[in-house]
Amino acid sequence: MPIGPAAGGARALLRNRESLELLSDVRLPPQWRREGWCLYSCPGNVRPSAKVAGFDFDKTLHFGGSAWRLSSAHIPPKLRQLYEQDGYKVVIFSNQHGAGKQKTPERMRDTVLETITRFEEFASFCGFPLQMFIAAARGDVNDPFRKPCTGMWDLMASCPDCNGGIQPDASQSFYVGNSAGRLTDGNDVDRDFARRVGVDFHTEDWLRPGHR
Ligand SMILES: [Mg+2]
Repeated sequence: MPIGPAAGGARALLRNRESLELLSDVRLPPQWRREGWCLYSCPGNVRPSAKVAGFDFDKTLHFGGSAWRLSSAHIPPKLRQLYEQDGYKVVIFSNQHGAGKQKTPERMRDTVLETITRFEEFASFCGFPLQMFIAAARGDVNDPFRKPCTGMWDLMASCPDCNGGIQPDASQSFYVGNSAGRLTDGNDVDRDFARRVGVDFHTEDWLRPGHR
């Protein structure tokens, strides 16, 4: 019997539920926590602030490959200035789809730990404390944590451990991402995420040295 869109959607939801059970069994590294399909890290030494400098990860801060430290060399000084001199809290909000598709406990554990390691290595590269939120669900089930939905921002704003009781001020915050709906972009989820949260939006060009 052919599978129509409704049946395909139901199958995706079923697999999503099964994969979420696998995810819930993964023992996360210290400082990492999970809410639904969102994995997040809020180190206790991040200074709370109402001003949030939010960033997408892939192709905004991290450009992949074994030479990523070279291609991201312009990033740490800029982020550190935002945190240490301009009074922002730096937060990464990233969609990652690897974990959401895993079907065995071993593959789920390996994928989650590989993903978290990539973010932890980047945080070490930056050399100051930052917060990280990862939406790990598959992309076809409308998970509320995946951009352009605002679940990751809402979790950051409501979690008492994430900001010392201080509410983020959207009017003083901004978000930077490479999915902006330009001709060569695959989509506009970053621009749409910023619009829904109510913060200013910049493309990754904003991070380039000398950009103003
Ligand atoms: Mg990106």
